[in-house]
Amino acid sequence: MYAAVTYGTDDIRFETCDTPVPGPGEVRVKVKFSGICGSDVPRVNKGAAHMYPMIFGHEFSGVVDAVGEGVTARSVGDRVVGVPLVPCLDCPDCARGDYALCTRYSFIGSRRQGSFAEYIVLPQKNVFPLDPGISFEKGALFEPATIGLHALFHTDFRGGKDAVVIGCGTVGLFTIQWLRIMGARRIAAVNRSREKLKLAGKMGASDLISTLDEDYMEQLAALTGGRGFDYVFDASGSEEMMQQDFLLGANKAKICMIGTPARDMTFPPRIWKKINWREMSVTGTWMSYSAPFPGPEWEMTSACLKNGSLVCDDAVIDRVLPLKDAADAFALYKIPGEIKGRVLLNCEITG
Ligand SMILES: [Zn+2]
Ligand SMILES: [Zn+2]
Repeated sequence: MYAAVTYGTDDIRFETCDTPVPGPGEVRVKVKFSGICGSDVPRVNKGAAHMYPMIFGHEFSGVVDAVGEGVTARSVGDRVVGVPLVPCLDCPDCARGDYALCTRYSFIGSRRQGSFAEYIVLPQKNVFPLDPGISFEKGALFEPATIGLHALFHTDFRGGKDAVVIGCGTVGLFTIQWLRIMGARRIAAVNRSREKLKLAGKMGASDLISTLDEDYMEQLAALTGGRGFDYVFDASGSEEMMQQDFLLGANKAKICMIGTPARDMTFPPRIWKKINWREMSVTGTWMSYSAPFPGPEWEMTSACLKNGSLVCDDAVIDRVLPLKDAADAFALYKIPGEIKGRVLLNCEITG
């Protein structure tokens, strides 16, 4: 088969390798589309991976084309999307359904071979049915969509409340969509780029606030008459923004960190004390799993992609490139502002 194999920093090669064979309990999927996740970029461009050579990629759609011994849940011909976490299913965290907290886990496309390839082999539990009413392109966006929904579930989000989403990358835009679907009263979107904010508006954000405006915090405060937001979802991963989060919460607000920082952060007492004075709950989420595996996040994403309430159009997909151009695709991430959504690799080899 053909695959895009990464050998080290800036060294991703389109080449032939052995087609994997499914073992007991495993299925082989012929990959249709595979998305480039923000987490894949440093794996290819910055040497930040567990091992090389490696086939990365964990957000994908495809068709089951072979099954191993004892596979009962899936059949050849099934349309599926990948479920990248491979939890041990045996530890106390897994027993509670907190699969993302499992420490004896594996992960498709980082700890085992991923989907930047014509074929991928994975446990039968790690494929989720893709309804015939949902295109394979949209299927490749399935996993990042579940991450935004998990954050709403984790904070026990209820409609009719005011929410602010910091960061309008793929996960931020999906979080905005879930807030719309679940009936948030107000959805403020915060981002530097006005172009991304426009997308946030298309996704359902009611107020678009650019951090390029010097008075953006005042603008945000004015939206709730100074009361603050009931829910703050931070999908920015930006230290500058995360430092402001506590200033945005209302009394009893829930502040949920979806993105992760890369550098040290300091909080002056005037910001930190807001957590005390307003009795805010600060929490974080990791991936998108709950019981029964992979979780209701995945069922609801399927339902909302099918009924059209969850939009996965050009606003979310930046461009689609053939798998053979994987190196060019990763080079695009070095051009500031070039990539505005998910880049999908078309893994079907033609000609
Ligand atoms: Zn991802
Ligand atoms: Zn476990």
